[in-house]
Formats: sequence, C-alpha cells, structure tokens
Amino acid sequence: MFDLRSVTIGAGEQHHEALPVAIAPFTIGLEPYAAEPANVVADFAFTRLRNGWVFDAAFAVSIHGSCHRCLGPAVTDIALETSEFHAFRPDPGAEAEMTCEFLHDEALDTDALASAAVVLAMPVRVLCRESCAGLCSGCGADLNIGQCSCPPPEPDPRWAGLAELDTG
Ligand SMILES: [Zn+2]
Ligand SMILES: [Zn+2]
Repeated sequence: MFDLRSVTIGAGEQHHEALPVAIAPFTIGLEPYAAEPANVVADFAFTRLRNGWVFDAAFAVSIHGSCHRCLGPAVTDIALETSEFHAFRPDPGAEAEMTCEFLHDEALDTDALASAAVVLAMPVRVLCRESCAGLCSGCGADLNIGQCSCPPPEPDPRWAGLAELDTG
C-alpha cells in the first residue's frame, strides 16, 4: 500500500518514486504461473491533474510456469508499463475508466495494480520456446527429445470412406 498523502504536489506536477511490489501468483487456464522473484521494484510516476490522478508504473518480471505445448518449464520475461486514471470527484454512476479500482481512500494498492498488469501482459499461449514441438498426441512423448515410435497419423476416416466407395 502506498499512501497518496505523502505526495504533496500541485496540479500539473509529477512525483517519481521507486516502490517494491509483490507480484501475486495466477493461473492461465488451470496452469499456475508465478513471478520469480515475486518481489520487484517498479518505477512509479504520480501525476496530479486538475481533475484527478494518473498512476504510471514500469517494471520487469520473469514469469515461471509450464509450456502450453510440451508442459515443460517455461520462463516468460515481461517488461511492461501500465497507467491508471482516478478522477477526484467521479460523477455518480461514472464509467469504470474514471476510477482506479486499486485506490482505497488515499491508499494505492501497488501490489494489486502491478499484479493485474502482469496478467494482462501475458501471452495467450505460454511456450518454452517458439519452436517447441510439443507432445505426441498418440503416446504423449516429448517430441523435443526425439521422434516417438507411433505410426504416422491415419488418413482422415471421411476420405477413407470415399476411397472404399470408389473401389467398390
Ligand atoms: Zn514446450
Ligand atoms: Zn507417439
């Protein structure tokens, strides 16, 4: 938690501060992912506008988890920047973009802000490497290690049926 009352700047001014943040573990599908190390330092910028705050944060993390194709260990390095706006006096029923969900009274939940930004920055499919060959759909062997002894895939049964009609 960061106490905004410690930032005493006027409208149009910006305050920079490096703050430690703890990145919470999360899942994609059912697979667990976690930052290693979980604690990193983020460069925060607090900008006071006439009508609200802008919170910017920039940091880098290494996310450890499993590869979508081969289920082996995968490390995803992410450098990200995130920005949040919070209006001083949001209109009743104002849109969600006008308020920062991580600000509670005058305390900014910097851990939650950083953790949410990491989840959004993750690739849809985490891979151990771009060329990962994945697992054999027949026997489950890791095809990165070598070819398994499964026969080549059967032709599509729909075409096999047509072939029979042809010869019959
Ligand atoms: Zn892989
Ligand atoms: Zn196989």
